[in-house]
Amino acid sequence: MSQKSNRLFDLISNQGLVYGRVDVGWAVFDIKLVSGLKSGESSCWGTCDFDSYVISLEKKMEDAPARETLLHEICHIFLDFCGLGGAGDESEESITTSNEAVTITMSRAMIMFARLNPELARELLCLN
Ligand SMILES: [Zn+2]
Repeated sequence: MSQKSNRLFDLISNQGLVYGRVDVGWAVFDIKLVSGLKSGESSCWGTCDFDSYVISLEKKMEDAPARETLLHEICHIFLDFCGLGGAGDESEESITTSNEAVTITMSRAMIMFARLNPELARELLCLN
């Protein structure tokens, strides 16, 4: 993917205090732009580290996938908080639930995300 203008990454880099962090209630995760997550056959564009409270995003991403990837990592954090996460072991990440239960969890998580991070939520949801 070629390096093109990335509004989200520009905002994270230039206004780090506003866009470089995600408040998830029980912790504040820093957002770091890194190189090397996406290399070779790895399809990883982002990670979230629950020990260091860091969301890492691959630098060589265009704006639209960067927004989706950041929101994806934020969803991992909220799902983990709601008891729908694993410790990194694939067998622990298999969860039996229902569409309704996940929908309730995610809709409440999205409301909590937006209330705790109004500016970032507006940006990620393309409301700016
Ligand atoms: Zn994921």
